[in-house]
Amino acid sequence: MSNVSNVIIIGSGPAGLTAAIYAARANLSPLVIEGFQSGGMPGGQLMITGVVENFPGFPDGIDGQQLMANMKQQAQNAGAAFEMDDVASADLTSPPFTITTEGGSTFQTQSLIIATGATARRLPLESEQRLWGRGISACAVCDGALPIFRNQPLAVIGGGDSAVEEADHLTKFASKVYLIHRRDRLRASSIMSKRAEANPKIELLWNRTVEEFLGDTMLSGLKLKDTTDGSVSELQVAGAFEAIGHIPNTGFLDGQLDTDSEGYLVVPPGRSTTSIEGVFAAGDVRDPVYRQAVAAAGSGCMAALEAERWLALQE
Ligand SMILES: Cc1cc2nc3c(=O)[nH]c(=O)nc-3n(C[C@H](O)[C@H](O)[C@H](O)COP(=O)(O)OP(=O)(O)OC[C@H]3O[C@@H](n4cnc5c(N)ncnc54)[C@H](O)[C@@H]3O)c2cc1C
Repeated sequence: MSNVSNVIIIGSGPAGLTAAIYAARANLSPLVIEGFQSGGMPGGQLMITGVVENFPGFPDGIDGQQLMANMKQQAQNAGAAFEMDDVASADLTSPPFTITTEGGSTFQTQSLIIATGATARRLPLESEQRLWGRGISACAVCDGALPIFRNQPLAVIGGGDSAVEEADHLTKFASKVYLIHRRDRLRASSIMSKRAEANPKIELLWNRTVEEFLGDTMLSGLKLKDTTDGSVSELQVAGAFEAIGHIPNTGFLDGQLDTDSEGYLVVPPGRSTTSIEGVFAAGDVRDPVYRQAVAAAGSGCMAALEAERWLALQE
């Protein structure tokens, strides 16, 4: 079965590329289907950020695109092959699994690592697109400490646990954090809601939706609509963090693997195995909690080691 790969890795973010480095160094000759556009660009989410300041090993930070280029080079040097395409469907009935791409190619593989990430939901506003990365972010842990946000009023949009966590985190840097929610109570768990209400730096703005992000070249404020009476007001902020959820990129799986209620692939604690033997998951696509590059890279390592062991057992 020379045309059947030992392992195919779908996705080329930190999880997929770390899995590729480990699988290549284990002589598994992995093929990485690195994505194209349906779930983000090749290289993943760090391709759309600036300097990454919290990836270990780079004391002065490293440009996100450079970090991903380095990881890809390292995987290629170790022997990984790359195919730039999106996966359209996968037949996971039994190994070898069949993978079909949007470009019409078909690949077979004995084991599969899914590392397709999760896409942050964003508000569908023209002003949001224009000012994205210019004061608007979807990740407080990633961007909250940037100088432009320090000692400034900031806003978090959302009402779940993540929104409260983001707001709480931002209070370390901001002069004040507005938590803007479209309903009259948070969706967050009661312990998180209490945390938000108890934090003197967080002001909850209930029943408000964002109508427009204001600013020419940098965000300067928000136009808010009161959902109870329709009145519109402006709020001056230097930063806005959207915390309205993520969509795990699993559509091509067509429900073949177990997911949680939000669509994240389910793996047992401390493992990368999915509900189908020989199929492993790594990175944000299985991580509703941490969603950080170093965590994704770590789980890519785990998935490759588990795939290697699983393949050895099949022999
Ligand atoms: C703006 C921004 C800034 C961030 N800053 C930081 C930071 O400073 N530090 C930090 O640790 N984290 C940061 N993060 C989070 C970090 O980027 C993610 O946690 C990390 O990239 C997740 O890695 P991943 O490999 O799981 O997925 P991703 O990086 O999302 O990569 C997913 C890969 O899958 C591919 N893909 C998707 N669907 C398909 C398909 N159907 N077929 C083929 N390929 C597919 C994509 O093209 C991509 O290559 C940031 C995120 C964002 C959005």
